[in-house]
Amino acid sequence: MSERETLEVDILIVGGGPAGMSAALRLAQLQKEKGGEPLAIAVLEKAREAGAHMLSGAVLDPSSLLDLVPDFKEKGAPLGAAVERDDIYFLTRASKFRLPITPPFFNNHGNYIISLNKFVKWMAGLVEAEGIDIFTGFPATEILFDPSTGSGQQARVAGVRTGDRGIDKHGRKKSTFEPGVDIRAKVTIFTDGVRGNLTKSLVRQLGLDEGKSPQVYAIGIKELWEVPAGRTPPGRVVHTMGYPLKMEEFGGAFMYSLPDNLVSLGLVAGLDYKDPMFDPHVAFQHLKRHPLIASVLEGGTLVRYGAKALPEGGWYTIPRTYAGGALIAGDAAGFMNSARLKGIHLAMRTGMFAAETAFDAVRANDTSEAKLKAYDDRIQASAVRRELYPVRNVHQAFSYGSLVGAAFTGLSLFTGGWWLKDPMPAHGGWTRIEKLAEYYKDARPDPESTVNPVKIDRQLTFDRLTGVHYSGTRHPEDQPSHLIVHDASVCATRCREEYGNPCIRFCPANVYEMVEAEGGGKKLQVNASNCVHCKTCDIMDPYQIIDWVPPEGGGGPQYEGM
Ligand code: SF4
Repeated sequence: MSERETLEVDILIVGGGPAGMSAALRLAQLQKEKGGEPLAIAVLEKAREAGAHMLSGAVLDPSSLLDLVPDFKEKGAPLGAAVERDDIYFLTRASKFRLPITPPFFNNHGNYIISLNKFVKWMAGLVEAEGIDIFTGFPATEILFDPSTGSGQQARVAGVRTGDRGIDKHGRKKSTFEPGVDIRAKVTIFTDGVRGNLTKSLVRQLGLDEGKSPQVYAIGIKELWEVPAGRTPPGRVVHTMGYPLKMEEFGGAFMYSLPDNLVSLGLVAGLDYKDPMFDPHVAFQHLKRHPLIASVLEGGTLVRYGAKALPEGGWYTIPRTYAGGALIAGDAAGFMNSARLKGIHLAMRTGMFAAETAFDAVRANDTSEAKLKAYDDRIQASAVRRELYPVRNVHQAFSYGSLVGAAFTGLSLFTGGWWLKDPMPAHGGWTRIEKLAEYYKDARPDPESTVNPVKIDRQLTFDRLTGVHYSGTRHPEDQPSHLIVHDASVCATRCREEYGNPCIRFCPANVYEMVEAEGGGKKLQVNASNCVHCKTCDIMDPYQIIDWVPPEGGGGPQYEGM
């Protein structure tokens, strides 16, 4: 049997998104600027190629890019289109009302519409050109701690272990079995994205969220369309509020026009909704049938589909981002501005700060928690805090309804985010979902039904399985499920009775199905190979008994152009 290999590096970056790539690039720059013995740096990425799991709207605020790669234009940054026009609409089922002025948070002048997939691929090229290794297809599954520091909250991070390969769906080793590799590092920078499996475990084990408000997430479902020429000019940004969401639901839609008649369309819905029958995928199909959107899409073709969670909670929900031997950056820590609907520039900036802090610490031969606190100091003194602090209560205000949330967001421009109770009270999103009997009273629907069904015409609207096909998702079937349901008996009993199995609706990829059980009744079937890695089930399951863990190396979506 193969022996487990160990690799030693100075700085390990776990996750090759915009935060991880920015950290790697900044480290390469520091090596050049400061000279001395070159540090060993490695980036681990779970996707089979850089950028393959990247999905975002996306409108890029180029402020961090300008500092990291000042000659980004000469270096061929794939920036899509400069934003030329912002339109904001309030939608009802059949009508639209355009806001006469663009609120400052939504002003995108100077920003670019990009494909995050292409942008991260480009960044990966820059990182590799600096001689830094990016190990793609290597998901990290476990955090390694320094045994001398114990396993409690004082434990010091010593690296990560990657997942074993060659285990069959029954958990048995195949002839191709290879144990995961231990990668030991003086500093590990966790950039494993929203609800990153390792960051989740690190935060829990070290109590990094003590005294913080609970994180609140949203799900973003996105499609890329090629539309008939002339429908919408490149550089047009449209945001909508209202339909298809209810006033009690947080969220809205976006439609960004790229060159080559490509349109990026998405719906973001807060994962703090009350209605247990709410179905984000169905809501997205309704959005496409709205005249404002249908008039752009009709006659076009679907190019790609995907989904991803977003950290919406803001400043007060960000955990402590440093510990002995470890730093957390980007979406993994929750650096996103939900008022501006932007996070890529914050991911890049915090990745850069993490790199600077790790570099200094390794060079000083001191990677203790006290030394790595310099990362937090950098954040507190930077544009990251100046941007996020004034909107620190914005998402929480939306828990009182869309109108209150929108009014509070506007007010924040004048009050700097002040409120009588600051932080505004916050709850984990999953705690807000109500039981069927509570929400629907006597009109309790059948859990298998759709409360607000949509006609699937395969022209504008598609079912989930077609979506999965368009996400390019592939997972080898003969491997253990990477969706761990700790007690599936709850699904057929309590969850069906109390919530009507919301997982069959909030999963955008038809992973969860309730099928006929032998001997009658229903049982949960998990179609893990459909999973697009959005993390919604890990976040929104009302009993918190689902854990998303990375599948065997490389599996997942292929978000070309997303
Ligand atoms: Fe998202 Fe979970 Fe469904 Fe995978 S199984 S697509 S992570 S909700």
